[in-house]
Amino acid sequence: MSRSIGLDATLTDYVRKVNPAESPALKRCREETEAREDANMQVSPEQAAFMKMIARMVNAKTAVEVGVFTGYSALAVAETMKALHGEKARLYACDVSHELIGIAEDYWKEGDVADVIRPVIGDARESLIGLINDGLAESVDMMFVDADKTGYPEYYTAGLTLLRPGGVMLFDNVLWSGSVADPSTTDPDTEALRAIAQKVNQDDRVENAFTAIGDGLLIAMKR
Ligand code: SAH
Ligand code: CA
Repeated sequence: MSRSIGLDATLTDYVRKVNPAESPALKRCREETEAREDANMQVSPEQAAFMKMIARMVNAKTAVEVGVFTGYSALAVAETMKALHGEKARLYACDVSHELIGIAEDYWKEGDVADVIRPVIGDARESLIGLINDGLAESVDMMFVDADKTGYPEYYTAGLTLLRPGGVMLFDNVLWSGSVADPSTTDPDTEALRAIAQKVNQDDRVENAFTAIGDGLLIAMKR
């Protein structure tokens, strides 16, 4: 089960009970994904609740997700976006895997958000440039970055172009199970996550907060 770093099973259960209940589609997506070996890539229900609240706080109508997996985080955010904006909401869901997008679409249909989600299949480096070229610059309210960690710097650069002022980028896994704080760990993923935390913190173009939700969630709001 995916849970926030530092929360034991008892506290995780408690937090889950006092958060809004998952929709049936979210519940099925989480439960069926739990059978996979790579299930820990999925955001926890409490992180999804937090992201749904962020979507409300920025009144998200146009959003981008980078790294879809089986569709749980996109489904959560899209539910809120559709509640706010109906069929005018748009979530561009970028993933390199046809197969995973196919799995995700089944949950999006059940959750009645397939009409507001646009899957974008391919390397997200190119997909985000494509969205900019399609005219989305300065129009995105919210972007969730959760794909390959070495891509984070490029996703940040593209995100700064895509976001409107006051829009937010969320970078997942910035604690990387704690390895970012262990100087002896120097693999490319860990180094990329350290680099993005530092870059965002030194960048005058954004307001930022590094939170310990899930496996670490870095929030950057474009000024
Ligand atoms: N947000 C998802 C988890 C994402 S896991 C959830 O909460 O359920 C990371 C995903 O990133 C995987 O589905 C993988 O296929 C995708 N990915 C990895 N590298 C990518 C790239 N370069 N471009 C687009 N997607 C990529
Ligand atoms: Ca993640």
